[in-house]
Amino acid sequence: MDKLSNIGTIRDVLNRHGFQFSKSLGQNFLINPTVCPRIAEEGGAGPGTGVIEIGTGIGVLTAELAKRADKVVAVEIDSRLMPVLAETLADYHNIKIINDDVLKVDLHRLIREEFGGMDVAVCANLPYYITSPIIMGLLEAQLPIKSITVMVQKEAAIRICARPGTREAGAVSLAVRYFSTPKLLFHVSRGSFLPAPNVDSCVIRLDVREQTPENVRDEMFFFRLVRAAFSQRRKTLVNPVASVLAVSKESVKAALEQLGIRQTARAEELTLEEFIALSNLLTEAKSHA
Ligand code: SAM
Repeated sequence: MDKLSNIGTIRDVLNRHGFQFSKSLGQNFLINPTVCPRIAEEGGAGPGTGVIEIGTGIGVLTAELAKRADKVVAVEIDSRLMPVLAETLADYHNIKIINDDVLKVDLHRLIREEFGGMDVAVCANLPYYITSPIIMGLLEAQLPIKSITVMVQKEAAIRICARPGTREAGAVSLAVRYFSTPKLLFHVSRGSFLPAPNVDSCVIRLDVREQTPENVRDEMFFFRLVRAAFSQRRKTLVNPVASVLAVSKESVKAALEQLGIRQTARAEELTLEEFIALSNLLTEAKSHA
């Protein structure tokens, strides 16, 4: 269908199908015609690539991805959109729609079965109610993908892209850096969506690392440490770390001292490398306890 991102076309399609937006599914569809081509370009959709899209809406981004990539597999939870997509994407023969909850889809299998030999990227205007589970799920699954380019709420973008050791950093910033290099690409105003949300948005790209840091002794322990340290982010990290990880305060203090970190340090002051070093020292202390 031509001019899919044109507001008149979008209203017409939605009216004809009697579609009502679902707030609980995070349905704010893009109506700014410049945004989807930009996401597709910056997300790496091109010859030889396959793209996984999460949440199609009426297919405005899906179409832009399909114009550039070899294949697009899009996962959309709302079955009411299936007849809409059959109409709006009828001209494209390289799109497969999966009507399911993305959190329940086996993406390793999907990539194996659908994208043999292609570089794979994820692109999406995410449903904001599950931004973190989706992003962390994609990263933790260690999928064979090059990048994740997504629209998220502005505050989430700032937190996700924050450099560890800065005020904006949180547990998610550390986890994201462990698996990828994040970059804030551009801002998108609330007026670019129908209906307009009451937050502004940003598009970010996470370039997935080919290898996660090799020097982590116990990955699970490292992530527990990060979550514990940020559980009381404005306080010093010694108490929450000692109690959540069941190590003595003395060993946390000794480890900090060994690393040249102040005993009153808060989680947001530590870099990724310092968290890794602290995790390794505490893993060792625990094994000798
Ligand atoms: N890509 C479209 C656009 O930019 O106009 C729609 C984006 S809208 C913010 C989010 C989309 O994700 C909606 O179509 C919604 O139905 C879908 N969605 C919500 N939860 C989902 C889930 N768990 N799995 C798959 N899709 C989901």
